[in-house]
Amino acid sequence: MLLSRYLLPVMKETPADAQIVSHQLMLRAGLVRQTAAGIYAWLPLGLRVLDRISAIVRREQDRAGAIELLMPTIQSADLWRQSGRYDAYGPEMLRFQDRGQREMLYGPTNEEMITAIFRDCVRSYRDLPRTLYHIQWKFRDEVRPRFGVMRGREFLMKDAYSFDMDEASGQLSYYTQMLAYLRTFEAMGLRAVPMRAATGPIGGNLSHEFIVLADTGESEVYYDSDYEHLNWNQSAFDYGNAQDLDAFKRMFSHMYAATDETHDLRAWEQVPDERKKNGRGIEVGHIFFFGTKYSAAMGMHVQAKDGSLVTPLMGSYGVGVSRLMGAIIEANHDANGIIWPEAVAPFDIGLINLRPDDAACAAAAHDLQAKLEAAGRSVLHDDRDARGGEKFATMDLIGLPWTVTIGPKGVAARTVEVKRRATGEKQEVSVESLVAGLAKSDTMGAL
Ligand code: ATP
Ligand code: MG
Repeated sequence: MLLSRYLLPVMKETPADAQIVSHQLMLRAGLVRQTAAGIYAWLPLGLRVLDRISAIVRREQDRAGAIELLMPTIQSADLWRQSGRYDAYGPEMLRFQDRGQREMLYGPTNEEMITAIFRDCVRSYRDLPRTLYHIQWKFRDEVRPRFGVMRGREFLMKDAYSFDMDEASGQLSYYTQMLAYLRTFEAMGLRAVPMRAATGPIGGNLSHEFIVLADTGESEVYYDSDYEHLNWNQSAFDYGNAQDLDAFKRMFSHMYAATDETHDLRAWEQVPDERKKNGRGIEVGHIFFFGTKYSAAMGMHVQAKDGSLVTPLMGSYGVGVSRLMGAIIEANHDANGIIWPEAVAPFDIGLINLRPDDAACAAAAHDLQAKLEAAGRSVLHDDRDARGGEKFATMDLIGLPWTVTIGPKGVAARTVEVKRRATGEKQEVSVESLVAGLAKSDTMGAL
C-alpha cells in the first residue's frame, strides 16, 4: 500500500476530549472517527486491525468447535416479548417502528433470536450439543458512552450460544468456551484473567468476566499471579478429546480471581499469599451458563433418546471485539504511540523512503515493497513528499511492528535500516538477507 494514495489522517496534538490513552491514540493514529456520541466510523487502518482481531476470535471459536452463522442487527419486539425481556431491558435498548408501525429494535444481544432459530430447526437429541456464534454489530444506548470504542453505543461483539441436553454437557460447553477465550486473548498478546462474576439479570449460576489488566480499567480485580505466566496456546489440551469435564475443572481449579476478597473466600484461601495480587482491568469478555432461562420461556423442546421431551440448557459467551482494540492499545503503547502486537498489526512493515524525489531511491523502495509483499508481508510504503522526521514520527505513532528505511546511502550499498518498534533496536541489513529471512520465517521476530 502506498501511503501517498491511502487515507491516514494522523494528528500531532492530543485531542482534548479523549481522556484515556487508547482513545487519544486511536484518534491520533487515524484508526477511527467519531460520527455521533458513542458511534465511530472505522477508518482504513482501524478496519484492518478490527478484521485481524475478528479473525483471531473466529479462528479460536472454530477450533473450539463453535459454528458460525450471521444474525441481523434489527430484531422484532415480538421476539423479545416471548422471553419477557422487552419490558425488562430498559432504555439501553434502541426501539423504533417500521413503516407498518411494527415495533422493532436494534439488537443489544441475541439470546432471543438464537433461541428461536434453534427451537425451530432442531427436534432431536442427535442435534445437540451445539455452540453457534456470530460476529455482529450491537447497539446499546449507554448512559455514558466514553473512552472511545471501549464503551461505545454501537460496537462489534462476538456472541456465542450453547445448547446442551444436560447439566454436565452444558458445563463442558461452558469450559470449552472458557479455554477458547484464554487462547483468544493470549493470541492477541493480552493477559486476561477470568474473574468469577455475579450472574445478575441474565440469571443462572456460572459466569466469568475476562479482565485485561490495565490501570485505566473500570473493574477492580483480585487475582492469582499464576495468570501472568500461563501459556494457554501451548497447553496440550485438545478440544477434540475433551469429553472430560474433570479435566477442564482440574485445568482451571488452581486459578482464581474475583471482584473483591470476600467474593469467594474459600477459593481465595487456596492461593498462597505471595501469589495474591490486585489491580485494575478492562472487561473484554463475559460468559454465562444460565440453564433453561430462555429455552423454557420460549418453549424449546427436544426429544431425548428415551422419547421424553427435554428443555435444553443454554449458555451465552460474549467478546467485545471493538473494545479489544482499545484494550490492546492500553496494554501496548509508549510516549510515541501504539506498539501493535504482530498478530493484530494493521501492516507488518512500514517502509520509509527518505528521498522519493531520487529516482534510484524510489526504484529501490518500490522493488523492496514488491519483494516483501511477495514474501507474504503487508507493507505500508511511505512514498510521500515529506520530511524524514515526520515519516518516522508517523510510523512510531501508528505502531507497525517493523520500520524499514531506505535512503541514498543504503541504495548505493544495497542495505536498509530495520527498526523494531517494540524495543527501538535498529540494524543495518542487506536487502537480500532481509527478503530471504522473511521468506523463510513465520514471524518477523526471527530477524
Ligand atoms: P459492561 O459491564 O462493560 O457494560 P456487559 O456486562 O454489559 O459489559 P456483555 O453484555 O456481557 O457486557 O457483553 C459482552 C462483551 O461486550 C463485554 O465483555 C464487553 O467486552 C463488550 N461490551 C459490552 N458493552 C460494550 C460497549 N458499550 N462498548 C463496547 N463493548 C462493549
Ligand atoms: Mg453493559
